[in-house]
Amino acid sequence: MILGFEIIGKITVVIIILLFLIIIFGVLLFIISYKTGKYPLPGIFSGLIDAFYSPIRFIVEKIGMNPDYFNSIVVDVKNSINMERFKKVPPEKRVILLPQCLRSVKCPGKLSPVNGIECIGCGLCYIKEFKEKTEKLGYRIFILPGGTFVKRLLKSIKPKAVLGIACFNDLFEGMRICEKAKIPVQGVSLKTTGCVETVVDWNEVWEKVLLGVDKNEVEGS
Ligand code: SF4
Repeated sequence: MILGFEIIGKITVVIIILLFLIIIFGVLLFIISYKTGKYPLPGIFSGLIDAFYSPIRFIVEKIGMNPDYFNSIVVDVKNSINMERFKKVPPEKRVILLPQCLRSVKCPGKLSPVNGIECIGCGLCYIKEFKEKTEKLGYRIFILPGGTFVKRLLKSIKPKAVLGIACFNDLFEGMRICEKAKIPVQGVSLKTTGCVETVVDWNEVWEKVLLGVDKNEVEGS
């Protein structure tokens, strides 16, 4: 009996040491990315982040590295491992998911339980113009009232690729949901947090929108 406890104890210690080493490996991958601007073993890094986001971020913060930069590298790594597959999907089979907080506070759009918030093109925010231009390319645009809408939309619309814009937490969660569903995803983090009139770098969004899009199609739109 005592021998049994001893074995269980030893196995537990080995597992704890292994987990610790795996987490340290994730931290090392982040530090290499941080120092070089390149992402070694991006698939493994992304998997480690999915499994151990909190402890890796905790260590990164403790060693004095910028947690916001950590989050931006997480998004970049996920973008890099999904990019080639995303490019191969034609825009008409892609969707763009925008957060409701990008709208004007005076947005007259109404919430639909199926399509999220429906932009009526009032022009009080940039979404009107963005929607018109991206729809010409074939995209479908959805303004989400919350992160929980992502799963519902993926089920009902079944897109072949997703471009998501959101605050880091929602984006990270949304990208993980897409990856689990084997849907290539690209993400852009908001520049400001909060729940109203947030800001995104639209140039960065457009870079993602145009990935793999025929130049002639853009000029014609
Ligand atoms: S342009 Fe669309 S999303 Fe923006 S405020 Fe007007 S209705 Fe709302």
